[in-house]
Amino acid sequence: MATLTKTLKLPFLRLNQAKAAEFARLEVLNTSVANQILALPKEERRALTSKSFADVEIGSAWVNQTIRNANAKTKVKRFRRLPLETNNQNWTLHKVGDTFSVSFGLLRGIKKRVPLEVHVTSHRELLQALLDGKAKAGSIKLSRSRRGLWYALISVSMDVPDAENTSRWIGVDRGQNVPVTAATPDGPVIFWKAARIRHVRRIFSERRKKLQAAGKHKAVRKLENRERRIITHINHCISKALVALAMRLHAGIRLEDLSGIRQSSKQRKTTKSDAGQNRDYWPFYQLESFVRYKALAAGVAVDAVRPHYTSKTCHHCGAINQRKKHAYVCTRCGHRAHADANAAQNIRDWYGLCCPLELDALVGGPHGPALNPVGQAAAQAVA
Ligand SMILES: [Zn+2]
Repeated sequence: MATLTKTLKLPFLRLNQAKAAEFARLEVLNTSVANQILALPKEERRALTSKSFADVEIGSAWVNQTIRNANAKTKVKRFRRLPLETNNQNWTLHKVGDTFSVSFGLLRGIKKRVPLEVHVTSHRELLQALLDGKAKAGSIKLSRSRRGLWYALISVSMDVPDAENTSRWIGVDRGQNVPVTAATPDGPVIFWKAARIRHVRRIFSERRKKLQAAGKHKAVRKLENRERRIITHINHCISKALVALAMRLHAGIRLEDLSGIRQSSKQRKTTKSDAGQNRDYWPFYQLESFVRYKALAAGVAVDAVRPHYTSKTCHHCGAINQRKKHAYVCTRCGHRAHADANAAQNIRDWYGLCCPLELDALVGGPHGPALNPVGQAAAQAVA
């Protein structure tokens, strides 16, 4: 069993102006408490309890969380905004008719919980599971969107069954020409094209340079946030499509194990300085974490394999060749393919490509025909 934790973003329904204003006022107060904490020396910070802020009118359960949140952010010098948050003991979920509501008391000394209706369209199943005791409630956070709407961010965790064992895999390559290439178990290879992504990267990089030169730091930050949101959105879309594909094909997803990969892939400085060409241009760790999360929720297996030689090995005969941009041509067997497709297929069939160690020694090192799916035959040929 694995545990899946999800944050539900639920807009408050018919939140009157007085309450919205009260949320906003208390959030400002909460932020100032957090900034007071940041101003203290570290030893004093650790000793803090809600009693240290007995004069603050926010409920002690909320203040406790603020202390934890402020202490957890070791790199922040000052909070511009710290949303009110409290743990699962201080809020409850109800359902009347079709409407869900959450209730909590915000003010210190007032035990009464005020029910607030939340508008729910997409998370009904999870909320029902919460009411039925099949899921566990976590913290609640009151958050205001940029448009000024208030949301309850509720974290919910539940046990999900482990993914079934499978021998069918979709090989996913973080391409150098194409951000994501997926080799399906039955053959066809699917590309997620980079044109739009490179475009986003370039445009934003040019704008950022201009703004930076003009000293407009606030505008730079805004621009960076916007770029990050667009990229996160694209990663959500790609990971969603990948997991849907895996479900449709009854297959698992096999990725490259990316730990430590960035240092090893060298790129010329001039190429790297172009935001569209920079190989570190895409947050693959984020994509991987999205894929893992969505796969877990959908019961799709995820596997990670060593990325070495996946792009250089010929998927057909196992020889090592250099790729030339998009083209992969094997000098031994003449196999021709799109370089990223070849790599994705290698990842998909990775364990078939592995060679026993003694064979590796026999043919002499990793550059010989050792990484070979038909290794036995090749070794005999060499011998
Ligand atoms: Zn070949």
